[in-house]
Amino acid sequence: MKLLEERIQKDGIVKAGNVLKVDSFLNHQMDIDLFNAMGKEFKRLFGTVGINKIITIEASGIGIACIAAQYFGVPVVFAKKSQSVNIDGEVYSTQIESFTHKQVYNVIVSKKYLSPNDNVLIIDDFLANGCAMNGLLDIVRSAGATVAGIGIAIEKGFQKGGETLRAQGYRVESLAIVDAMNDETGEIIFRTQG
Ligand code: 5GP
Repeated sequence: MKLLEERIQKDGIVKAGNVLKVDSFLNHQMDIDLFNAMGKEFKRLFGTVGINKIITIEASGIGIACIAAQYFGVPVVFAKKSQSVNIDGEVYSTQIESFTHKQVYNVIVSKKYLSPNDNVLIIDDFLANGCAMNGLLDIVRSAGATVAGIGIAIEKGFQKGGETLRAQGYRVESLAIVDAMNDETGEIIFRTQG
């Protein structure tokens, strides 16, 4: 998506350790005009596959998912990061290792909000090694719900998440795919998408 690529090129900052900072428009301050354009694009990509729910994970996925949901007319459920392992059986839970914080989180979704009747679109801000997405997939599978697709704002194509998920048969649509970036020169190279 040209608009997102241009914005990353203009305002994204390449940090050491393969981290792309996009705090000025996506991860901290949020550019709602851009989010609307992204939401419309997700709707164009996934609008015909009968999605009835969007799933994401707190915190950065929520804004993107909510704006996208307005175009689908469906609710958003966000997986919560939880301190404790829940043992009362009322939630689906899994563990996710954070790429940016190098920490393992317990993540939960209440059983009330996800069921075998759901056909879900999973949305997140970044796809890197796929740990966050694998956790969300684990939760959706535990609920017996169907994964209609995975929508990502920024995929880092030089990390293995996207390739692995596509090889597993998931439809992964990333609005921008960064194939290379250099923290010394600040250069960012995008994959050409059809
Ligand atoms: P993964 O689990 O795929 O390795 O990483 C995805 C998660 O880590 C995303 O939810 C995102 O919050 C965070 N993340 C991964 N790479 C980056 C990055 O380069 N920049 C930022 N801002 N977040 C990232």
